[in-house]
Amino acid sequence: MSYQIIDGKAIAGEIKEECRVKAEEYREKGIEITLAVVQVGSDPASGVYVRNKKRACEACGIRSLSYELPEETCEVELLELIEKLNRDEAVNGILVQLPLPGQIDEKKVIQAIDAKKDVDGFHPMNAGALCTGERGFVSCTPAGIIQLLKRSRIAIAGKECVVIGRSNIVGKPAALLLLAENGTVTVCHSRTADLKEVTKRADILVVAVGKPKFITAEYVKEGAVVIDVGIHRKENGKLCGDVDFDSVAPKCSAITPVPGGVGPMTIAMLMSNCIASVDE
Ligand code: NAD
Repeated sequence: MSYQIIDGKAIAGEIKEECRVKAEEYREKGIEITLAVVQVGSDPASGVYVRNKKRACEACGIRSLSYELPEETCEVELLELIEKLNRDEAVNGILVQLPLPGQIDEKKVIQAIDAKKDVDGFHPMNAGALCTGERGFVSCTPAGIIQLLKRSRIAIAGKECVVIGRSNIVGKPAALLLLAENGTVTVCHSRTADLKEVTKRADILVVAVGKPKFITAEYVKEGAVVIDVGIHRKENGKLCGDVDFDSVAPKCSAITPVPGGVGPMTIAMLMSNCIASVDE
C-alpha cells in the first residue's frame, strides 16, 4: 500500500509563518508579544529545547526573556520569580522548562503560573477547560497532533481513534482533543489487557508510549493513520520514535516520521499559544 508521510516540518513551518504575520500585526498596534522562559539547572536536553524555543520566538517576532537559574535553586526562589512574572504586564506567556531538579515540586510550580500566561497548557485550570470544552491553553504536543491531522485533511469525526499513553502532557489531552473533534476514542496504557486487540481497531492510532519502536506492524490495521509522538536517540546518534516505521509504514494510509513529524509541531504550537496569550 502506498502511504502518505505527514510532513510535520512543513506544517510547523506554515504555522510559525502564520504566527509571524500575527505577531507583526500586534507590533503595528504597539503590542510586543513576550514569552518568559525559565530554566533551572543545566540539563543538556533541556538546554537544547530551551534554545530551540527561543530561536522559534526570534523567527516569529516574539520577544523572549531568559531566566537561567542554578541547579541548587530552591522552590521558594522559583515561586517568587513566577509571582514576579505573573504580575509583570509586559509578560504574556511564562514557560518553565521541565523536568525541574528534585528539590522543587513541579506540580506546585505549574499551579503557581497564572493560568492566563500558561502557554504550555499544564495548569489544572487549562487542563480542566480542555475537559469541559471551555477556552484555554492546550498542551502543545497534543494540539500539534490535531493540526497535523487537520492540515493533512485527515477526518477525525466518526473515526475509531486509539491513543496509547495517558500522561498529562500527551496521552490524556490528545484523547480529549480527538473526542472534541468527534472521534470515538479509546485510551490504552501500561495496564491495558490486550493492547494489540485494541490498537488493531484504530483508524487513527496515536502512539505516546515512550518506548523505542514499540509498535510494530501487527498492532496496526491496514490503512490506518499512525501518529508517532515518541522521540528516542539511538546508539548511532540518530532519532527514532515509538513506532517501528519501516514495518508499520507500508500498512498505513498516512504516518508521521521521526524526526520531522510531531516533534517540530510542539514548538510551532507553543508559538501559536504565545500569540493567543495576548488576548487572555
Ligand atoms: P510517559 O512516560 O509519561 O507516558 C507513557 C505512557 O505509556 C504511560 O501513560 C503508560 O501507561 C503508557 N505505557 C507504558 N508502557 C506501556 C505498554 N506496555 N502498553 C501500553 N501503554 C504503555 O511519556 P510521555 O511524556 O507521554 O511521552 C511519550 C513519548 O513521547 C516519549 O517518547 C516522549 O519522549 C515523547 N514526547 C515527545 C514530544 C514531542 O514534542 N514530540 C513531547 C512530549 C513527549
